[in-house]
Amino acid sequence: MIDISTLTIFSARKKLDSKEFSVVELVKTYLDEINRKNKDINAYLEIYNDVLEQAKMADQAITRGEIFPMTGIPIAVKDNILIEGKTATSGSKILKGFVAPYDATVIKKLKSQHAVFLGRANMDEFAMGSSTENSAFGVTKNPLDPTRVAGGSSGGSVASVAMGGALASLGSDTGGSVREPTSFCGLVGLKPTYGGVSRYGLMALGSSLDVIGPVTKTVTDSEILWDAIKGQDKMDSTTYSEDVYPKNKNSKNKSLTIGVPYHILEKGLRGDVRKNFDESIEKLKKLGYKIKDIKLPNIGYSLAVYYIIMPAEASSNLARFDGVKYGLHIDGNDLLSDYLKTRGMGFGEEVRRRILIGTYVLSTGYYEAYYNKAIHLRQTISNDFQKAFTEVNAIALPTTTGPAFKIGEKASDPLALYLEDVFTVPANIVGVPAISIPSGSVNDGGVDLPLGIQFMAPHNCEELLFEIGKKFLGE
Ligand code: GLN
Repeated sequence: MIDISTLTIFSARKKLDSKEFSVVELVKTYLDEINRKNKDINAYLEIYNDVLEQAKMADQAITRGEIFPMTGIPIAVKDNILIEGKTATSGSKILKGFVAPYDATVIKKLKSQHAVFLGRANMDEFAMGSSTENSAFGVTKNPLDPTRVAGGSSGGSVASVAMGGALASLGSDTGGSVREPTSFCGLVGLKPTYGGVSRYGLMALGSSLDVIGPVTKTVTDSEILWDAIKGQDKMDSTTYSEDVYPKNKNSKNKSLTIGVPYHILEKGLRGDVRKNFDESIEKLKKLGYKIKDIKLPNIGYSLAVYYIIMPAEASSNLARFDGVKYGLHIDGNDLLSDYLKTRGMGFGEEVRRRILIGTYVLSTGYYEAYYNKAIHLRQTISNDFQKAFTEVNAIALPTTTGPAFKIGEKASDPLALYLEDVFTVPANIVGVPAISIPSGSVNDGGVDLPLGIQFMAPHNCEELLFEIGKKFLGE
C-alpha cells in the first residue's frame, strides 16, 4: 500500500528512483482513489484510457536512467489545456467532443519529462468564475466539506489533488483561478509572472492576463512543477527568456521586507479572516521578516479594471466559437442563424453575460468611456506596484475574503462572485507572480476550513516567493 496522503512530488521522486514502488503501482493507487471519490466530488470530467500505458513508459524511462523531476508523477490537467488527441472542452457545451490537434507547450515540456496525465479536470466554463458552478458539466465539490465549493475556476484541478486523486495539477489563473481554489482547499497555488509560462495551447480567456500555474501540496513541489513548465517559447511571443531571472538567488541571508497594504484590509474583511492574516504576519516577523505598512493608492480600482479588460478580451477571444470551426454546430436557416443558435445554446449564462459586457465596453462611444479608462488605470496600478517594490521585497495580502462558501450561496449573484477576486486580480493586472499558501483555518458553520495568505513579488521573482513560502510552511 502506498500512503498517498503524505506523498509529494519531491518524496515520490526519491521513492520511484529507489524502486520503492513503480510508476504503475503509484498510478493504480491514484486510479483507485479517483474511483472511490470522483463520483461525489466531480473533480475529473474524464480519466484518460492510456494512463497505465503512460505509466509503463515512465517506468521504462526510469529503468533507462532517463529521470527528470516530473518523471512518473501523476497529474491532472485543467480542461482548457490541450493534449494532442484528447478531448478538451473548457467546461463548455460548445466544445463538447472537441479533440485537441496539438500539445500545449506546457504539455510538451511535461511529456519530455515523462510525467503521467491522469485526466481532464473540471472548471468554470471558459475559466469564468470562482466556484466551478459555471461548468456545463456540474459543480466540483470541496473534498474537505462537500456541501461547499472547491473554488474556481480551476476547481477540478485543485479538488483532484485535495481528494487524493492526483499528486499535483495544472490550472490557469486570469484573475485568481489557481490561488482562490487552492486557498479554499488548503493547497499551494502559484500564478507565475505573465509571460513566464507559455500560453500556447491554453484556451484564451483574457490574453493579457492568462497564465498557467501549478497546484501542489507544498511550496517545494510548486517550484518543481513551475520549473518544468516555464520558459521562452517561440509559439508565444509574450514569453520571457531565461535570462530575466534574477542572477543573485542568494537572498536567504538578507533580511527581507514584506509590505502590507493595510488600507485595503480596513473595509469589509471578516473578523476571523483578519485575525488569521494578522497571525500570519506575526509569524513572518518571528521568522525574521520586516513588515512595512505600504500604500497602493489605486489598488481599489483593480476589480473594476479587471471586469472591463477581461470581458473585452474574452468577447473577442470567444468570437472563434461560431459553430463552424470547433465543436458544437446547430443548424439555422442561414449563416447568421447558425451563429446565433450555436452560440446561444452552446454558451452558458455567465459566458453570454461577459460577451455582452465585453462587446459593450469595446463598442464605439463606450470604448473611450470604459475600455480606454481601464487601460490607463491598469498602468497607474502597475506604477503603484513598481513604486512599492522599491521599498519592499514582496507584498502580502489574504488570498480571499473568507473560506469556501456553500454550493449555491452566491450562484444567483454574479457581483458577489466577482468580489471573491478582490485580492487576487491585482497580480494579473500588473503581471507579477503571486503564490497562495495555507495559513491555517477558521471555523465556519461548525467546520474548520482552510484559508490562504498570498505573496506577490516583482516580475520574474518567483524564487523569492518560494523562499518566503518554504519558510512560512517550515519546509
Ligand atoms: N474569478 C475570476 C473570473 O471569474 C477569475 C477567473 C480566472 O482566473 N480564470 O474572471
